[in-house]
Amino acid sequence: MRKKVLLITAVVLLIALIIFFGFVPTFVDKSRNTVVTKNVQVPPDAWYDSLPFVADLHCDELLWKRNLLTKHDYGHVDLPRLQKANIAFQVFTIVSKTPRNQNYDSNSDKTDNITLLSIAQLRPVQTWFNLKTRALAQCRQLYRYAEKSSGEFRVIESSRQLKQLISDRKTNRKLVGGMLGLEGAHCLNNDSKNLDDFYKAGVRYIGLAHFFDNEWAGSAHGMEKYGLTDAGRQLVKKMDSLHIIIDLAHASPKAIADVFAGTSGPLLVSHTGVQGVCNNPRNLSDQQLAELAKRDALVGIGLWETAVCGTDAAATAKSVRYAVDKIGLDKVAIGSDFDGAIEAPFDITGFPLLVSALKKEGFDDTAIEKILGSNTRDFFLRNLPGN
Ligand SMILES: [Zn+2]
Repeated sequence: MRKKVLLITAVVLLIALIIFFGFVPTFVDKSRNTVVTKNVQVPPDAWYDSLPFVADLHCDELLWKRNLLTKHDYGHVDLPRLQKANIAFQVFTIVSKTPRNQNYDSNSDKTDNITLLSIAQLRPVQTWFNLKTRALAQCRQLYRYAEKSSGEFRVIESSRQLKQLISDRKTNRKLVGGMLGLEGAHCLNNDSKNLDDFYKAGVRYIGLAHFFDNEWAGSAHGMEKYGLTDAGRQLVKKMDSLHIIIDLAHASPKAIADVFAGTSGPLLVSHTGVQGVCNNPRNLSDQQLAELAKRDALVGIGLWETAVCGTDAAATAKSVRYAVDKIGLDKVAIGSDFDGAIEAPFDITGFPLLVSALKKEGFDDTAIEKILGSNTRDFFLRNLPGN
């Protein structure tokens, strides 16, 4: 009898483990990264397909352990879909800690969803409880994809490599470049010396805070939403000296003001919206836009509802129009937040639909080419380390 109970317990446990490790990670991925329109129909657009440099400033694909190199019918981004969408350059951002019941108003740093996700994904044990190790493992993964991509995907770390990508794409339209960024500096584990390790790992922009206040800066969604801490001020200086670009997305208004006061270097807002169209604390105020207009800055308008108060290309185009009118045509780009636990209007293959939406906002071909990629190209050509 006792043996029978033990056997049943073992079988139940085994089934639970198979479900946990075999199905939970994909289930979470599928249920968090959704689209309004599945298998979106994109009319042929020879002009779009001829664009030499289409770019997206922000996607969180690396969090999901979904093979970048193979085509999936869920999530938003993988290499075959990037190629189909004629994307030349995609930034991959590292999400390393997200609070339970994450929301846009107020989150503490006490809980973390990604610990359990990392275990369920069977990531290396070292990544389960150490945020730095966890983030660096995601960085390395991007290089592994590049190695296995038969030369179709490469990681970009410098303006020299970016120039090479631009040149090589003239004869190979399937070539895609990826660059690394961080969502939140909390994975520096409270030690600015770790910045060097992330630089060596290829990280070229860092958002100071993600969904909670951290030791460097307050978050727009934190409990206190403070500005830069003393350590944060030092970190910003060190980032400037290493040519790691500061990303203001998710930072608290106080932290953004402190960065404005503390640096004259290039500034990025990788995925955002504008309060003038979509009024919430996640988005940029007119005052912040006015400050960005005076600087070497790039603002990526997002493709999800909280950013643009709509769930289609037209909503994104409307916020692009507003941002361009405030800060100029050269400073606005697209930062989708694909695979960032959002419902997007479409996956990356719907990117060409932005063309007609931008036309309806009065942009001509030259302007659309800038917004969809040339501005991003030029910003990183100016601001990535040379070699
Ligand atoms: Zn984000």
